[in-house]
Amino acid sequence: MRDEEIRKLKDLDLRTLWHPFTQMQEFMGEDPLIVERAEGCRLFDIEGREYIDGVSSLWVNVHGHRRPELDAALRAQLDKVAHSTMLGIGNVPAILLAEKLLAAAPKNLSRVFYSDNGSTANEIALKMAFQYWQQQGRREKTRFLALKHAYHGDTIGSVSVGGIDLFHQIFQPLLFQVDFLDGFDSAAAERLFAEKAKSWAACIVEPMIQGAAGMRIQPPGFMKKLAELCRRHEVLLICDEVATGFGRTGKMFAVEHEGVEPDFLCLAKGISGGYLPLAATLTTARIFDGFRGRYEEFKAFFHGHSYTGNPLACAAGIASLEIFERDRVLAALRAKIEWFREGLKKFAADPRVKEVRQLGLMIGIELVQDQLGLGAKICRRARREGVLLRPLGNVLVIMPPLAIDKEATFKILDVLYRSMDEMTQDAKV
Ligand code: PLP
Repeated sequence: MRDEEIRKLKDLDLRTLWHPFTQMQEFMGEDPLIVERAEGCRLFDIEGREYIDGVSSLWVNVHGHRRPELDAALRAQLDKVAHSTMLGIGNVPAILLAEKLLAAAPKNLSRVFYSDNGSTANEIALKMAFQYWQQQGRREKTRFLALKHAYHGDTIGSVSVGGIDLFHQIFQPLLFQVDFLDGFDSAAAERLFAEKAKSWAACIVEPMIQGAAGMRIQPPGFMKKLAELCRRHEVLLICDEVATGFGRTGKMFAVEHEGVEPDFLCLAKGISGGYLPLAATLTTARIFDGFRGRYEEFKAFFHGHSYTGNPLACAAGIASLEIFERDRVLAALRAKIEWFREGLKKFAADPRVKEVRQLGLMIGIELVQDQLGLGAKICRRARREGVLLRPLGNVLVIMPPLAIDKEATFKILDVLYRSMDEMTQDAKV
């Protein structure tokens, strides 16, 4: 790209865009990174610099960028139709993807309701759970149980069940009624259920690992216990697998680690291989049947987004699941998880590191020093050496595409370690 074009794009970025989760005052003083193209697990900016995509373009990319099978599926679908509504009308890829999703998901799930991002996948589950109980005549079930430090998205409903004060506290007056369980504590959960479960429509949880909270991993047995408590107390279980779904934790879905069968499974991010916005809320025949009736009973679920079940996104989703099957992606993942486990030992042994947490390819390295902006500084330093990462406070996050190779794995670990080393020189203990 010519210098003049580069300057123009950077100037426009700084003057016209408002970037998410970004303090724009700081951003406007920086040299913006603008992605132009990608290849496999690497992104290239408009100045031709190359970066390993160490956080899968915010936890979405699965098989790498510009994967020929995905590109071909999209091109083929473009020759048919780019979009048509799902309100009372089907489209071919949406139907075929639903079949594939249900085949991959826990067996109790039998219906797929599409939307287009993780927040809406959760909102839909929350609304369905609420409406279900109302239509069952259980008017008392109006509240929800969520977990402290949870993150379920940025729309007001998903913020209501969010437990990260930095993101959620300010909106408190706008939010609906939620009880929070603090800590992955089965005994505390049991007590809270005994006290309050009667009023809960559902419990929403990120199974096995809270991503945005800084890759906080639940102890073995916790998820199973929560599922058992939900069943015993007639509370519907919503598992938010927006981050964990599609192989990230080493299994197709995180609920498989403990054999949990949720009433709702919320999927987004990796569902389209990380290509296009798509989400799905999977649920059971029992919930589905609770909405059936003659039109004039007004039991329908009055919810639907314009781009729900978009054919292009669904075509990408089908191609992505085909790659999972054909390339035996989950089996190949075991070795990759071990590369990281091996490489992370150096971090775990470092006195500047409080804890290293890893579940599959979801990795958090928590620093001892909780200095504001330190994680971001380390990641900016890593970026200069061609590794793109985004921290969560003082937790350094690595979440590469499942297609990551050995060389890129060790480059991420090596660059991150040196960046940490350089940026924490003064903090050595
Ligand atoms: N739920 C979880 C567990 C997430 O990690 C995220 C995003 O990071 C979301 C929901 C929100 O998804 P989206 O950004 O697509 O709305």
